[in-house]
Amino acid sequence: MLGSGLSNEYLTQIFDQYKDLKYGEVASYIPELKKAKPSHFAISVVDCQGQILSVGESELEVTLQSVSKPFSYGFVLEELGIEEVHHKVGVEPTGEAFNSIIELEESSHRPFNPMINSGAIAISSMIPGASDAQKLQSLTEFFGTLVDRTVHVDNTVFLSEKKTGDRNRAIAYLMKNFGILSGDVESILDLYFQQCSILMNTEDMAFMAATLANGGVQPKTGKNIFKAEHVKCCLSLMLTCGMYDSAGRWAFEVGLPAKSGVSGAIIAVVPGVCGIAVTSPLLDEHGHSCRGLEVIKKIAGDHNFNIFNPRG
Ligand code: GLN
Repeated sequence: MLGSGLSNEYLTQIFDQYKDLKYGEVASYIPELKKAKPSHFAISVVDCQGQILSVGESELEVTLQSVSKPFSYGFVLEELGIEEVHHKVGVEPTGEAFNSIIELEESSHRPFNPMINSGAIAISSMIPGASDAQKLQSLTEFFGTLVDRTVHVDNTVFLSEKKTGDRNRAIAYLMKNFGILSGDVESILDLYFQQCSILMNTEDMAFMAATLANGGVQPKTGKNIFKAEHVKCCLSLMLTCGMYDSAGRWAFEVGLPAKSGVSGAIIAVVPGVCGIAVTSPLLDEHGHSCRGLEVIKKIAGDHNFNIFNPRG
């Protein structure tokens, strides 16, 4: 592959090396996610020229979960601008889990950043549209432009999270109390849960990551989706906050902006080079895919992708 120095043979070798790694647990706090197949494993890389490398079940769709967060954040940045968005959401890491309830800044009561649940729920409240249906439509259309096709919400996963999402509900009502959220909290939560339930395959997710790697331009369609200054916002927050309470170790060991989701998806962005996505549902205690972490760490190490150690 031109841009990244990766080859099919290399990716197949990595796949074979990690396919027997079987530790971790499938997420169960959203009951529907328990149905994931523990053996599911796929790796996709898309470079800034739009070339694709994939191994494993890269066509199998899973819900995005928190992998959606940098993109919905980027979407509202495009719609409202940095100042308006960050009036309601901060830019500091928490060192806490993604669903921590003690995660509002002390004086402003803003959520710390858009990568944790509180911040992402606040971002959902900023999605444009005159009605709930229009908001959902603008969100799914936006995600559709990222992958150049029509995307769908997995309604069963959405309803499963809606039914059991009391922790997110509590966080959202607390934010309403502090004036961070306005309007109907249940509608905002529905949109957040629907965003998390958008179905994508591994290749789609690599395209999403590659769009950020490519300065906001979708490499296949050439569409300019994010302004360069907004890409910078997304990537810096993915680096410092994307991996929650293990973001420090991730930056220290891997040095790439990344985002994980509890469906077992994880993406990493190699700026100017490529986007990497791994899907595999067995998770560690932080909610990251165990195979995903190891595979991205290995690929990044082998290719000197760490952004703090630029390739000569
Ligand atoms: N929808 C999930 C939640 O809010 C997303 C969490 C994640 O993927 N880390 O709990």
